[in-house]
Amino acid sequence: EDGAGYSARLADGTKAWPGFEDSAVPPDRLGAYLSELRSLLDQHNMQAISYGHYGEGCIHLRISFGLEQTGGAERYEHFMSDAADLVVRHGGSLSGEHGDGRSRGSLLERQFSPEMREAFATFRSLWDPAGTLNPGIIVDPPSITDDLRITTPTVLQLAPAQAFSGDDGDFRSAVDRCIGVGRCVSTQGSTLMCPSFRATRDEQNSTRGRARLLQEMVAGSLANDGWGSAEVRDALDLCLACRGCVSQCPTSVDMASYKSEFLDHHYRRRLRPPSHYSLGWLPLWLKLSSRLPRLVNLITRSRLTGGLFARLAGIAPSRGIPPIAHRTFTRDWRRRNHLGTAPHGQVVLWPDTFNNHLTPDVAHDAVRVLEAAGFEAIVPGRAVCCGLTWHTTGQLGMAKRVLKRSLGAVELAGNEPVLVLEPSCATMLRSDLPELLPDDPRAISLSRRVTTLAELLDGIEYVAPPSPPDTRPAIAQPHCHQQSVLGLDADRRVCERNGIEISKELEGCCGLAGNFGAEAGHEEIAQRVAELELVPALEADPDAPLLADGFSCRTQIESLSGKRARHLAEVLAERLSPGDG
Ligand code: SF4
Ligand code: SF4
Repeated sequence: EDGAGYSARLADGTKAWPGFEDSAVPPDRLGAYLSELRSLLDQHNMQAISYGHYGEGCIHLRISFGLEQTGGAERYEHFMSDAADLVVRHGGSLSGEHGDGRSRGSLLERQFSPEMREAFATFRSLWDPAGTLNPGIIVDPPSITDDLRITTPTVLQLAPAQAFSGDDGDFRSAVDRCIGVGRCVSTQGSTLMCPSFRATRDEQNSTRGRARLLQEMVAGSLANDGWGSAEVRDALDLCLACRGCVSQCPTSVDMASYKSEFLDHHYRRRLRPPSHYSLGWLPLWLKLSSRLPRLVNLITRSRLTGGLFARLAGIAPSRGIPPIAHRTFTRDWRRRNHLGTAPHGQVVLWPDTFNNHLTPDVAHDAVRVLEAAGFEAIVPGRAVCCGLTWHTTGQLGMAKRVLKRSLGAVELAGNEPVLVLEPSCATMLRSDLPELLPDDPRAISLSRRVTTLAELLDGIEYVAPPSPPDTRPAIAQPHCHQQSVLGLDADRRVCERNGIEISKELEGCCGLAGNFGAEAGHEEIAQRVAELELVPALEADPDAPLLADGFSCRTQIESLSGKRARHLAEVLAERLSPGDG
């Protein structure tokens, strides 16, 4: 099935379609058939990607019919008729493995004699005289162009706020990536895609279910609601924006970006849910709170006021609000003695919201490791932010403003690598920033320089002092954006080189996924997603140390087990003696 997904686009990005995707000829005719088929494609000025069961003479083919262009349906019909004649001439069948269905039924007159088709009709009418069972299949089929969904014009004003560069800026093309193969509704194999489907077993909560609704929306067939569609909003509500689909869907459906785009349009001139104002604006609230951290902690963490605060902010009451640090990382950084030049040069440490305001020890440990490894850390003198929380909640105008402001930091103007400790912020800067500000060369430069700690240390083959001999193998919960976008190869190499033994590397999402699990109404799904993999792993080895670079993964682990998971920076810094770094 994956072959259908991988061949949905030609190498140059042109869409390739099914239609003539299952022809078969006797194996000894295959060579001649393929060569004539190739000529036929050339004649029609079409290209194709093929895969299939060559030994049996069955060829799966996806063809650039150009259905989305003017005259596409006619071109399709013309080619299909010629190709049907070709396969019949070689003694083959229009469908070798699958069925003819509605899409090829009307071509059967080229393959079967009138007597044979009459026999099909007689047989069918004996068993189904009223014609209620799957009408239009084989007997009395519609024309092959009758049900071509793609010929429906786009009636919705699209004008996306993101570049959708992989789809030439076309949101419809992006959502049309889903061809329905259904790897996202499989419960076998990796658990990364799609956690909401795995937790609910409901098609509406799968990548495919959401893509189908978005396809209907852009084609204008969801009543007249367009971007205002409540059905689409509800279907997207349980998408964790984990990005599992980007890496695991064979056609790279990127539902997290589609969700951001939809929410951006949906809530224009509409009141948003409270969590969009609280969690969506989190960097700003944390910045303001850092002036009176003790008072804020008192209010948000007391039983009485904390519950009220959570309700007003649209935060799940069971979640609890994490304490903010009494001193931010950047505040301490300004008072610190700085290392002079270092053998591996300078690295800009991006003080992300989470590690600056909530877990500054992670950033301090990262600086120690950087310096022990021979880097000089520099930190932007002005507040910077990747805009993640605005992006996730579909406030794309604000995300762009925040990013533009951050790009003005002088420390980012050079060519140094930019170390981002929080994986979701690194993903935002590496892959979403160029999609939000495609015309800003500073954005493109920054996106290319973003590095994770593991990537940076892997580049110099860093080896930390050995760990204490009794260190137990750890359970690793990589952030889902690490798994799907950033990759884990460097992390694995750094762990191996430094003797950090991983007993289990979890594949799925922890269930919290940034703001998702913190929002009121998502508690149950967040818990069910955690129970897919994380909870069983924690229960199977309750004493194992835990490794998690993502703030939300660490938060989820702590709320599930009461245990504190550590960032790679903390694990490596622990090896250093007080004078190092
Ligand atoms: S979203 Fe699901 S059904 Fe659609 S192409 Fe990807 S894996 Fe297949
Ligand atoms: S982002 Fe995650 S939850 Fe959303 S559709 Fe993709 S795999 Fe499913």
